[in-house]
Amino acid sequence: MITTVNPTDGTTPATYDAMTLQQLEQVVAQAAQAAAEWGSVPVGERLEALTRLASELRASADGLAALITAEMGKPIREAEGEIEKSAVTAEYYAANGAAILADEQVMVDGAKAWVSYEPIGLVLAVMPWNFPVWQVLRFAVPTLAAGNGVLLKHSPNVTGSALAIEQLFRRAGFPEHLVRTVVVEEPDVPATIERLIADDRIAAVTLTGSNRAGAAVGAAAGRASKKSVLELGGSDAFVVLADADVEAAAAAAVRARFTNSGQSCVCAKRFIVEAEVADEFIDRFVTGVKGLVVGDPTDRAVAVGPLARDDLRVALQRQVDSSLAAGAVLAIGGGSIAGPGYFFEPTVLTGTAPGMPVFDEETFGPVAAVAVANGPAHAAELAGATPYGLGVSVWTRDASRGVELARRVTSGAAFINAVVASDPRLPFGGTKRSGYGRELAAAGLREFTNTRTYWVA
Ligand code: NAP
Repeated sequence: MITTVNPTDGTTPATYDAMTLQQLEQVVAQAAQAAAEWGSVPVGERLEALTRLASELRASADGLAALITAEMGKPIREAEGEIEKSAVTAEYYAANGAAILADEQVMVDGAKAWVSYEPIGLVLAVMPWNFPVWQVLRFAVPTLAAGNGVLLKHSPNVTGSALAIEQLFRRAGFPEHLVRTVVVEEPDVPATIERLIADDRIAAVTLTGSNRAGAAVGAAAGRASKKSVLELGGSDAFVVLADADVEAAAAAAVRARFTNSGQSCVCAKRFIVEAEVADEFIDRFVTGVKGLVVGDPTDRAVAVGPLARDDLRVALQRQVDSSLAAGAVLAIGGGSIAGPGYFFEPTVLTGTAPGMPVFDEETFGPVAAVAVANGPAHAAELAGATPYGLGVSVWTRDASRGVELARRVTSGAAFINAVVASDPRLPFGGTKRSGYGRELAAAGLREFTNTRTYWVA
């Protein structure tokens, strides 16, 4: 049995029975059938359903946001933002899906040739808890537009959200079994996912989550010779060059690190600052962090809520303590907050460097690592000194210098004088150990299609 825990107070709002093997089989059979039928529904009709989905998301926003906050502790205003962003994404694909999926004529000698983007069937989605609705919808919306079905395995701590998503699609008028949730419990998860990936009725798999889970799912997909997309962790650098507007950069740095209580793959995690402006940046950044209101995430004044689970807090404390032992300096925060709930103080460590856990590993919580660079070349070197490659943000009054520096760092996205964020109009995904494949925009829609060649002589 899965018991969800409210991370704000440790209460247990709900329990859910894991599905039996027979129930799982029935869900897969129904979803595969629904996906096969959906694939022959005209694109225009599929996209109309997305417009209805956007309305349904907005109509359900209050309830969904409250559920997200109860299950994983996100500040309520951010939970509402997550629902609105999902609705905007549904509208984006409703408006642009037909053009993205349209056949592409190709000039060849003596024949007519074109490329078409065709459905592939039922796609398995293994999803994390940090954006319980957005992570699922940013995959599901383009995948459904492409004519596929969705089989969702969500994180157990957001099982209520997973089941609510299933209902949401039904209310929006999608076929009953086209988006289905499987409720699976540890220790059965790896074996069940492996079995599903090997199942002929599953066409492909996508996973958002840790490298450990990504490696397991990617390997299973390889064994089954199936397409996979992996959206894994990140340790994005936020680079502040000496010519930057330091006040603006420091204010943005607070948002970049502490949104979602620090639990986002694209949160900036390492702040690399040129020596000339390091003191000013640290001073302004720490002042900003001091101003963050930590507390009950249902309170609209709160900026930082609890971590989603206690074990995540324990892991974060180890990263902070080991880094301090290795020579980092505590500027503010540093540990758990006593009392019920899984709260952790907004924390800034200065004097960090490669070799310290807060620099080398992903920190999934409200902890910022600041490092000082001796010039732009050193800043680029430090920014790239990570196994991850999701995003990089560069702050400078000369945008071309920012782009030039970003080109020296491998990542899936580069933002100059802006905080890294996903946007339905632009592809999103990682390089290096942050994974492979893309979500959103045209690339995300085509990711789970059969790019098919036609040649008519
Ligand atoms: P996780 O273990 O990777 O969980 C993500 C999803 O993968 C869950 O549905 C999980 O199911 C499933 N999963 C885990 N191991 C699996 C396996 N061997 N085979 C198949 N599926 C598997 O993430 P987490 O434990 O919730 O968080 C741990 C770390 O993941 C974080 O500290 C962070 O580094 C990273 N993370 C990254 C993102 C991101 O957006 N990039 C999001 C969340 C977490 P079960 O939980 O039921 O095992």
